[in-house]
Amino acid sequence: MTTSENVDPIEIQKFEDMARRWWDPSSEFKPLHAINPLRMRYIAERADLAGKRVLDIGCGGGLLTEALAQAEASVTGIDMGTLPLQVAKLHQHESNLEIEYLQSTAENYAEQHAGTFDVVTCLEMLEHVPDPGSIINACAKLLKPGGDLFLSTINRNPKSYLFAIIGAEYLLQLLPRGTHDYQKFIRPSELASSLRTHQFDLRDLKGMTYNPLTQHYGLGEDTDVNYLMHARYEPNAL
Ligand code: SAH
Repeated sequence: MTTSENVDPIEIQKFEDMARRWWDPSSEFKPLHAINPLRMRYIAERADLAGKRVLDIGCGGGLLTEALAQAEASVTGIDMGTLPLQVAKLHQHESNLEIEYLQSTAENYAEQHAGTFDVVTCLEMLEHVPDPGSIINACAKLLKPGGDLFLSTINRNPKSYLFAIIGAEYLLQLLPRGTHDYQKFIRPSELASSLRTHQFDLRDLKGMTYNPLTQHYGLGEDTDVNYLMHARYEPNAL
């Protein structure tokens, strides 16, 4: 890994350390297991998946990647982690799915596969990279004109600090301490501006909320902490 790449080795290491438990729904990946059906439904409602070429950037152990393959998409998952990819590859055999998993950055992959994807997903990864705008640029390169992009990350404000760090890592201990770095959180307006720069049309923004009393996750209008975005790549629009 060269330092010129848009990869933070400390961030990658966090996931190497946890990767063995990726498919254990009672582990630190419990929140990802819990939100997976919600975000998958969101994607499936907004984009055709059957028979389409889909790229999952920062796929980790493959929770979303497998759900996309189950929806009959032809899926490639890329990640810079070694163990997360090994876990993903092993698990797809158990699930009897055909997914291509590769160790690559979005930027390098985009150099070789420009304009080949109908759908690109990049969920819960942007808050772990040094330059999120460079990932958006790669997504624009990777998508066919009219292709769909799905992003999710964490907002940056006092409430998100309280909920995503103090609440999730310290009080409720849903995630290991140090999982998230407040400075790397991204406001929806910042992401929207980067999307516009790269010729995306923002189609939708939804918040993802967690109620610790009912332990229920939901999608709605409250984007203060976690949020999901759908954008369409429209390079030729006026
Ligand atoms: N997208 C998955 C996993 C999220 S965890 C999901 O939502 O279920 C974040 C993942 O991003 C980890 O697997 C980590 O290894 C990966 N990652 C972090 N920085 C990356 C980078 N620059 N390029 C590719 N993958 C990266």
